[in-house]
Amino acid sequence: MIHAEDVPRLLRGTPGTPLGWSEHQAAFATTTQVTSLLDELDAAGVTGRGGAAFPTARKARLVRSQRGHHKSVIVNAMEGEPASHKDALLLSTNPHLVLDGAEILATIIGARRVVVCVARNDNRVVAHVNRAIHERTRRRLRGIEFELQTPPWRYVAGEESALVHWLNDHESLPQYRPQRPDVLQVNGHPVLVDNAETCANVGLVARFGAPWYRALGTERQPGTTLVSVTGAVERPTVIEVALGTPLRTVLSLAGADPAPRAMLLGGYGGSWIPGERVDLNYDNESLASIGASVGAGVLCVLGRDGCGVVETERVVRWMANESARQCGPCAFGLPAMGEDLAQLSAATRDAKLAHERLIERGAAIIGRGACHHPDGVVRLVRSALDVFADDVAAHARREPCAAAQTKRHFLSVPRLEQEHELVWE
Ligand code: SF4
Repeated sequence: MIHAEDVPRLLRGTPGTPLGWSEHQAAFATTTQVTSLLDELDAAGVTGRGGAAFPTARKARLVRSQRGHHKSVIVNAMEGEPASHKDALLLSTNPHLVLDGAEILATIIGARRVVVCVARNDNRVVAHVNRAIHERTRRRLRGIEFELQTPPWRYVAGEESALVHWLNDHESLPQYRPQRPDVLQVNGHPVLVDNAETCANVGLVARFGAPWYRALGTERQPGTTLVSVTGAVERPTVIEVALGTPLRTVLSLAGADPAPRAMLLGGYGGSWIPGERVDLNYDNESLASIGASVGAGVLCVLGRDGCGVVETERVVRWMANESARQCGPCAFGLPAMGEDLAQLSAATRDAKLAHERLIERGAAIIGRGACHHPDGVVRLVRSALDVFADDVAAHARREPCAAAQTKRHFLSVPRLEQEHELVWE
């Protein structure tokens, strides 16, 4: 039996060693009888773990209200955030917990099919999911049909409309969505897209009930969450913490620098916050007070000898390359921001003007893309100009810090060597 105070919940077992069906049933033996799954989800207050933190029950209700006999649940485990490894670890530890949740969501919306999407470069995760799906298919649980899809990895490939686009046309392009929440479709049929960690949380609620689920976390963001911690850490890691845990504790659990220069929260389209704000709690309500959020559960730690201007330039240049360049802000705005940051980071003669241009470009780009990719880059740049204001001013005066000159970096960006192979720089 799992007790409410137990953490981990999602990573129960041996991380990286997937539980088979029988072991899963023993480890997650049901302790409560849930009569209405949707009401229980509502009461539990599960929110999406892919970045937007949208209430999972509300999203499911929207798709349930759609007509059609060929609805599907799409499990989004694409993990397009370069610093995120949480879904891979979850599927390599408790794949059946994710599939439990997807199956329950399928039952709620009236679907008979679940499609699990994992990036094709991650061979081990693909194999774990394949094995788990075969185990369930042999047992014909609830009569739900499971399928594995392996789109190519890209930053935007994990954006839910881009994922749906790939399932329809094999193109990872985000779609223009003027109204949200909306209902996406695959082959003309409504689909519910939920992140893998979100599905695992649904699985927990169905087995243990809303009161158990709410025993950890905050009133507005109950439960636990997976955090991918990279940068100034002994080694990049994924930990599970209750939402609302002090950032200081999160850093300590991850073996990270306890007094960092700064932290990037939410992912590469997230926000820098000053290192001294380790007093804040790791939940959206607390982080909103300084314009940050949990986002996709990424925490990048900038060491005391790091330069936020250099790091931001690297990431923005990479993000500019990752767009499909089908909209103006991505085709022209993001590469130009990358250029400006390069001038600022190298403290060239043009650095002061580049700083001014960055502010103007942010205002011109925000809200103008078909998806939120450019907005994320602007958020990152604005937070860097704010948090590293002293460094930015020094760079603009052509007096860069020592870290800028050594070009040491804490944030990694991937390079696609071949279709299946990512190389980290
Ligand atoms: S805003 Fe950028 S990433 Fe989004 S759809 Fe347009 S070009 Fe693609």
